[in-house]
Amino acid sequence: MTLLETALGIGAAAVALIAPAVATPTAPPAPTAAPTVASGLPEPTITQQLIPFGAARKAQMARYSKIHYGHGSWRLHPRGVVEHYTATNSLESVFATFRSNQPDPELGQKPGVCAHFVIDRDGTIYQMVPLNIRCRHTVGLNHRTIGIEHVGMSDADVMGNRRQLRASLALTAWLQVRFGIPTGDVIGHNESLDSRFRRENYGPWRCQTHGDMTRATMNRFRSLLNDNLTGTTVDRSRPDWVDSGC
Ligand SMILES: [Zn+2]
Repeated sequence: MTLLETALGIGAAAVALIAPAVATPTAPPAPTAAPTVASGLPEPTITQQLIPFGAARKAQMARYSKIHYGHGSWRLHPRGVVEHYTATNSLESVFATFRSNQPDPELGQKPGVCAHFVIDRDGTIYQMVPLNIRCRHTVGLNHRTIGIEHVGMSDADVMGNRRQLRASLALTAWLQVRFGIPTGDVIGHNESLDSRFRRENYGPWRCQTHGDMTRATMNRFRSLLNDNLTGTTVDRSRPDWVDSGC
């Protein structure tokens, strides 16, 4: 078939039946495909550096989920993102910690801590855990959120590092488009108690959070994020905080 016949979805015989006996000048065919709608964002460059996460660690994550969220699964269907900084100066130490799968010092339970992504100071994005697996990065939110770590010692370290911040915004915005995550569900670890997804069945941890990535930092981060999301269909509303009672 000719290209025109292929585009019309008909074969040569059908064309013969409808073809006029005498060739007449015809207008060029109208384009049949609608122009591509720019609803997505380009995938940032991501370096894969996956930690081992085999059957044993998955089983540990499922058990953790059962204890803390009441439902024993290691599978993640991302609904939000939690931003962190590592409080270390090197990517290597973070990778080693995530790999080591050490039990937590309080309950002595595995799996060890991890995050899905770590962004180094030079802006390189490393993926350490697949996005369909839960990672232990934020008490109360591991069953719903992707964790992103930034190598640095403070909020200001991250926000003041242009390459690292640019990479972080690009990665987070891309994840939001991919999973339909509103900007209001991109939070800092320090905001974790106020998240609408927060759940913690273990009493002593019900009000536990960390100091990294505060409300003031994240208000600035979310504003920059929304600039990156211009032209997408992602919900750019402010967070819908809940009162944790903590
Ligand atoms: Zn954190």
